[in-house]
Amino acid sequence: MAEETVPQGASPAAPPPKPPAAPPAPAADAAPVEQKIKVRKPKQRSCDEKDAKGKLCGGHLKRWYDYPKDVQAKIGNDAEIYRCEFCKTLYKPDPKQLPHSYTLRY
Ligand SMILES: [Zn+2]
Repeated sequence: MAEETVPQGASPAAPPPKPPAAPPAPAADAAPVEQKIKVRKPKQRSCDEKDAKGKLCGGHLKRWYDYPKDVQAKIGNDAEIYRCEFCKTLYKPDPKQLPHSYTLRY
């Protein structure tokens, strides 16, 4: 007569409860004015924003490279963006004018 003693109750692999991770603090950027983003019309090279008196701005739209992170969040990574030299309105390129460098072929 042999009595088998099988060890029962191996410790269950229960993951230890994780302490809730602290959420990343929201970027406290105190932007006084909401950045205006327009879309360039085809061939548009100067700003067509009007001031309070209805005067056309006419500033040059310049390619803007060193935009801050909050602007990047709105326009996306590596986005082309132009900025008026006077009123700082942002202009996205006309989507129809983007060069078609990718051809999808299967
Ligand atoms: Zn302008």
